[in-house]
Amino acid sequence: MLNVNHVTKRFGGLTAVDEVSFGLEMGRILGLVGPNGSGKTTLFNCISGLFPPSSGRIVFQEKDITGLKPHRICRLGIGRTFQLVKPFHSLSVKENVILGLAFGHRDRPAGLRAQAMEILEFVGLSGKAENKAGGLILAERKKLEIARALATGPSLLLLDEVASGLTESESEGIIALLKEINERGLSLLIVEHVMAVIMSLSHRVVVLSDGRKIADGPPDEVANDQNVIDVYLGEPPTTQVEAGEPS
Ligand code: ADP
Ligand code: MG
Repeated sequence: MLNVNHVTKRFGGLTAVDEVSFGLEMGRILGLVGPNGSGKTTLFNCISGLFPPSSGRIVFQEKDITGLKPHRICRLGIGRTFQLVKPFHSLSVKENVILGLAFGHRDRPAGLRAQAMEILEFVGLSGKAENKAGGLILAERKKLEIARALATGPSLLLLDEVASGLTESESEGIIALLKEINERGLSLLIVEHVMAVIMSLSHRVVVLSDGRKIADGPPDEVANDQNVIDVYLGEPPTTQVEAGEPS
């Protein structure tokens, strides 16, 4: 469904993403992990069109999307959340989702309000539909961010650190929600710092370090990879290990 081929992104002299390749199959969940600064968000930004890669190609459902603008990539079916959650604070929760609906569709979809409520129901935010988005707590803002991305009608959803900063029970709620989204047929590419989240969700895990891919495989295999333990995990993995900061 998604093919990332030798993608490199440079910022001046800094190579943030260095010749990274991987594929994601339809209906699967791919986890992307790595220490802070390893290039995860930059790779996301290249895929979602926020900026073009310096070199390499990105193919989505057999279409070359390299360098396309975000709204075009969105309309082709790639939705995303942002690491820093930025809803429109002065708008209501429902209005934020309506914007997502309007953004994702070329023609104005009928029944915007009903559709927005359906999505809010699904993510568990329907009780807050009329509240100002600015008044939500972090866990609710993360759900709103997922709702807004779902509203654009994606077949592939890119999620950047949707569980970071949440309590264990809040992040369990997010994990359950993401599983349900996947069961509805959406493919997911998740970037996450909390290893427990990656391990319990991903069918496959790609590990970045200094912009390079250092491992790619099933979660249990990657978690026991000596190279990954050395540069990232820092200690033998258990599913409860939270990834440490790079030293
Ligand atoms: P991660 O998401 O894995 O923490 P990032 O992709 O945010 O990593 O960052 C990778 C590297 O690229 C870092 O060294 C970061 O400082 C740099 N970087 C990211 N975005 C920009 C930008 N817009 N301009 C310049 N440097 C950037
Ligand atoms: Mg990041």
